[in-house]
Amino acid sequence: SIQQVDHIWRNGALIPWADAQVHVLSHALHYGTSFFEGIRSYDTPSGPVVFRLTDHVKRLVDSARIYSVDLPYSPAELAEACKQVLRANKLGSAYLRPVSFIGYGSIGVVPAKDTPIDTYIAAFPWGAYLGEEARTKGVDVCVSSWNRMAPNTAPTAAKAGGNYLSSYLISREAKSRGYAEGIGLDVDGRLSEGAGENLFLIKDGKLMTPPASSSILQGITRDSVIRLAKREGLEVVEQALPREMLYLCDEAFFTGTAAEVTPIRSIDDKTTRAAGAGPITRLIMDRFFGLFEGRTQDDWGWLEPVHAQ
Ligand code: PMP
Repeated sequence: SIQQVDHIWRNGALIPWADAQVHVLSHALHYGTSFFEGIRSYDTPSGPVVFRLTDHVKRLVDSARIYSVDLPYSPAELAEACKQVLRANKLGSAYLRPVSFIGYGSIGVVPAKDTPIDTYIAAFPWGAYLGEEARTKGVDVCVSSWNRMAPNTAPTAAKAGGNYLSSYLISREAKSRGYAEGIGLDVDGRLSEGAGENLFLIKDGKLMTPPASSSILQGITRDSVIRLAKREGLEVVEQALPREMLYLCDEAFFTGTAAEVTPIRSIDDKTTRAAGAGPITRLIMDRFFGLFEGRTQDDWGWLEPVHAQ
């Protein structure tokens, strides 16, 4: 269950948590027309920061843009609102969930022009998505019987509510079969991503991850890991990957805002050669979590302070 805090931001102002409600005839509830982000803030030795806040709010605006929805707030305004929510609730390490959606006013699939676009930003404490143990031991996952959306259907570059019907099917099936998470294949049967995470495989010292064209959300954690790995001199390739690479790789891990960097121990009951976090996964985890512990240099301005400096 969600750990409740005091305030949620709605359309420009802070309101009490309990008042952040929507009408049952809101468009998004029926048609999936919401655009959202998952963002993490961290308590670092130099104060609370939001990780890649600017990139997250830009993606929110872009997700809406794909659906011809113009958000009434600029990325800069949304970023400031996110920080305001953290400050108002005195949160350090937290998960932020901004969501903009087509609200109440039309029942047709294409809403009338005057239908409101509502924006809410919630923040609350949230630990490791796939469990604390996952970080040390790795998770057991499976390939889903459900594929990800085909190109030119529901666009996976948009982080839109409706896309999560696919994630729901993949993750629910995996969990009902006793796995921590499911991996979706794309329409060609190539590797795509986890239900809410991007996928990395390591073979012969090289990092491999499916490309944008494999029906993935181009994760911000994925991009961060690619940059951190390259700075360490590691080779990273974004390329279409066949399913069997899952069974041949030395190491594998998931990335995502919620999952952060989570090692994969086994796929379809076959353990990776490392059987958990191997040496490269451990290096990546060290550099990634090191960002928030003051051990990894932030060359990119990713750590955005919650309090004005
Ligand atoms: N794929 C999907 C389907 C997701 O929901 C997420 C989580 N936002 C990711 C990948 C990882 O993206 P990010 O690193 O930006 O959180």
